[in-house]
Formats: sequence, C-alpha cells, structure tokens
Amino acid sequence: MSIASNLAQIKSTLHAGVELIAVSKTYPPEALMEAYAAGQRHFGENRVQELTEKHEYLNKDIRWHMIGSLQRNKVKYIAPYIHLIHSVDSIELLDEINKHAGRNHRIISCLLQVYIATEETKHGFLPEEVLQFFKQHEQEEYPNAHIIGLMGMASFTNNEDQVRAEFRVLKSLFDTLNSEHHAGLNTLSMGMSGDYRIAMEEGSTHVRIGSSIFGVRN
Ligand SMILES: *Cc1c(COP(=O)(O)O)cnc(C)c1O
Repeated sequence: MSIASNLAQIKSTLHAGVELIAVSKTYPPEALMEAYAAGQRHFGENRVQELTEKHEYLNKDIRWHMIGSLQRNKVKYIAPYIHLIHSVDSIELLDEINKHAGRNHRIISCLLQVYIATEETKHGFLPEEVLQFFKQHEQEEYPNAHIIGLMGMASFTNNEDQVRAEFRVLKSLFDTLNSEHHAGLNTLSMGMSGDYRIAMEEGSTHVRIGSSIFGVRN
C-alpha cells in the first residue's frame, strides 16, 4: 500500500470535522512529501531537532504539531513556526511557551496533556490538576499561549472497554471545563492508529496517526 492510498483509506473512516494529523516522526522527508502531494498538510513530530530540520526542508504551508514531551530549553527553536503544541505537561512549560511566543509576536495554541492511561510511562497532568489549574488561572495570564483543548493517550492494550473508559475520562473533563469553567475549549486530541475509531466515538476532534499511514516504525 502507498502512503497516498493509506491516507485515502483513513480519511474515508474519519467522522465529519475530525482533523487528521499525520505523525511522521522517524520517517524521512520523502515520506512526508508523498503525503503532502496527496493533500496532507498537518504533520506531527515528537522531537524538536527532527521537527526543526523537517520544517526547514519542507513546504512552508505545512502545519506542524508538537506531540512529544518538550523540554523548556527547546521551546525557543519551535516557537517561530509551531502550529499546535499537544504536550503541555507543566505550568512551567506553559510559561516558557508564553514567553517565546511573545518574543515571536505570536499566539501559540496549546493543549494540556492529561494522564488517562494506567501505564506508568505515560505522563501529563492528572484530571484533578487540570481542574485546579482552571480554577486558579485565567487565560489572560498567558496572552501568547492559548489553551484550546486537551490531549491524552489511552493505555496500549487490546482491551477496548478500558481504552474507551480512558477516553471517556478525558471527554468528561473537557465537557466539565467548558460547562463549569467556561474554558472555551474546542480541541480534543485523542486517538492513534490502533484506537482512533474508539476515540472518535468518544468525541475526539483531532486524531494523531502514524504507522497506519507511513508503515511500521523501526
Ligand atoms: C507516535 C505517536 C502517535 C502515533 O502513533 P501510531 O500508533 O503510529 O499511529 C500518536 N501520538 C503520540 C503522542 C505519539 O507519540
């Protein structure tokens, strides 16, 4: 199967309005160009250096998504061009993004990453920490880092009920923030190759799909 036909197949399964982010980490620029030629414009990467190299090399109308853990001292490299940061996992990181976005005269859209899986290795805010954050902070404190939603990763398991339950936790937090805290969130980033169908059923607006488009990573 070619990248173009994989993309077409996946797009045919997306619910109306769901944005597809092609997760291109580890794949060479040629693979991204193939997806680009097929009309794909949103790409996700998880390492700053690889992201920056690809951004410099590839077409400038690509919208780049940072989906991996981001060190504060590397924010400055992506601040000039990043479209959406999915992986904000601390207030210190949000502060840093706000600072560098300001220096670049930009407003950078951000998602708070929420820990919903039962696996120890995945990280992010706990749901109650996110609620606490919205109780204690105003968006005005971060004029250049605009929180537009939440991101989460479900456990890596074949147990669909568990995956669904984890996505539901995120969706319910999202709804609570909007209804009780007037957070104005519009983006719920959940779902990868193995679980995006369940994620869409549970209310995802952005799916992050890599291996089903580009093939298995080494
Ligand atoms: C790698 C990655 C994906 C894509 O995973 P696939 O299983 O290849 O679709 C999605 N989200 C994050 C945060 C990732 O690191």
